[in-house]
Amino acid sequence: MRKTTSVMIVTSGLCLTCLTGIRAEAQERSVHPDIENYFSLVNQDFSGLRALDTTSFVEKFWRIPGNKGFNESIFRVESILQDAGYIPEEQAKESDRLVYRIERRSMKRLTWEPIRANLTILGDDKPLLTTDINRNIPLINSRSTPPGGVFAEVVHVGGARRADFDDVEIEGKIVLGEASPRRLYREAVLHRGAIGILCYRIPSFNQPDQHVNSIPFGSIPQDAENQGWGLMLSKAAHDRLLSDLKNGPVRVHVEMETRLYASEELTLIAFVNGSEAPQEQFVFSAHVQEPGANDNASGVGCQAEMARVMAKLLTTGAIDPKRSITFLWGDEIRSTHRYITEDPERDKSVKWGISLDMVGEDTTRTGGTFLIEKMPDPSAVWPRGDDHFSEWGGKPIDLARMMPHFFNDFILNRCLEQARTNGWTVRTNPFEGGSDHVPFLNAGKPSVLMWHFTDVYYHTDGDRIEMVSPDTLKNVGVSALVCALVLTSADPDIARYIIDEIEEAALLRLEKEFTLSCAALEDQGSWEREFLILRAWTDWYREAVGTVREIEIGETSMQTIHAIERAAERIERTGSDYLARINSMRKQ
Ligand SMILES: [Zn+2]
Repeated sequence: MRKTTSVMIVTSGLCLTCLTGIRAEAQERSVHPDIENYFSLVNQDFSGLRALDTTSFVEKFWRIPGNKGFNESIFRVESILQDAGYIPEEQAKESDRLVYRIERRSMKRLTWEPIRANLTILGDDKPLLTTDINRNIPLINSRSTPPGGVFAEVVHVGGARRADFDDVEIEGKIVLGEASPRRLYREAVLHRGAIGILCYRIPSFNQPDQHVNSIPFGSIPQDAENQGWGLMLSKAAHDRLLSDLKNGPVRVHVEMETRLYASEELTLIAFVNGSEAPQEQFVFSAHVQEPGANDNASGVGCQAEMARVMAKLLTTGAIDPKRSITFLWGDEIRSTHRYITEDPERDKSVKWGISLDMVGEDTTRTGGTFLIEKMPDPSAVWPRGDDHFSEWGGKPIDLARMMPHFFNDFILNRCLEQARTNGWTVRTNPFEGGSDHVPFLNAGKPSVLMWHFTDVYYHTDGDRIEMVSPDTLKNVGVSALVCALVLTSADPDIARYIIDEIEEAALLRLEKEFTLSCAALEDQGSWEREFLILRAWTDWYREAVGTVREIEIGETSMQTIHAIERAAERIERTGSDYLARINSMRKQ
């Protein structure tokens, strides 16, 4: 007899009457008692403030693989793991279940570190820009100016197309432009002998008209030959330079101090070894590099607290995951790709992955919401209704790239369960890419991204610790950890519970897509397109429920197989009914 605790499952911000959005139906549904138990155990121990403390330590550094800030961040997490009881792999015994290692790799490129930079218009008594206020001024890989800095004239080349350089004296000057810093540097310094660049380029979602002093970070090529450098500008600084240039030549004083040096790239990996199938693992990945607090010191801090809570619950005997749980801290995408593909045995053992990237936003300050970026489903082919790409910039993908899987709804439901007690806003977006979930998907493994968007301070030097909320870190960390605990428990009863929730999600989705298709047809939409969309969703969910076979260790029980077959049959029948109705509309 399953003890029921009633729960309202409602997706935030959806308009029920117009039947848009994924889960417009408020529905009574009981949370599986084991899942409920995981939530109370993890919520009890997880400290948002502790995660914030680590985030605060990491965000002080501009982290680039190999540099002091990156390595110090890795060592900080290492000390948290050691305090929690994780043993260095080289000292660990076979029986140790909490183990970690730091992988060291020589780097082909020099690492880089900014120290300080100033830009002053001659005649002004104070700098126009200084790293005391804006830490993103120096473009990554910039070299130091000679001691005392350089004085030179500024020439403006607009978008830095080839023609913009015609009839402009460039040699020995400082070039101002509105183009990608790499292209501006190539055209101005590498090809025409400028001594440095001033670059203005900021995406509209950073709202530069409002945040006139925000500066996004960027990079230039490593260039030992020219010893060149570049500065990123804020809107305010850019406007000032352009208005001065209207009144005649402008000379500036630039001081830049940076360090480039040979170093090693570090990757930290912690393991909670499973008791029954330790060779099968659920992998979390949080990238360390980049200068931001939310992007991604928050992921580093949240994941460190997750690893600490796991150790605590394991050593106290409160949990006993049958499969292993792995936490990876490293360079974005590259370290995850390497972890999955470097060793064929390990490749086989990775079953599920989650990228924790931008997981601490205080959305009252940053705007945006928490988002689960789904694995490729038909909403990434036909984004409509409440499914839309973020401002980060997803594009529709091909139907051939679909990855039907229970993971999308499974993760969403766990986050909604965490949200039921505190009003946390949980939304999803169609697959876009650009983070550590991609290497998993490229290897054919189920994976989602937990993030926030639109964060108005994304990739700018406004992304500092005051934009991070300990409550958000807790909501994300608890939900993510419960997801891993549920799937590494490999419990047949939970597997069948998940079949029910996938079937429910399928029926809700098919109903909404049917309603959207009807509206589209009424609006002279293409019948072929609507038929294809409904067919795609039916196929996607029929296949997705079948992936629940992954949950039980070894052979899937007959009971679960029968439950899958029944659910798949009901999904197919429901989808076919809607297709038949769409078909009948064609004839009319
Ligand atoms: Zn990131």
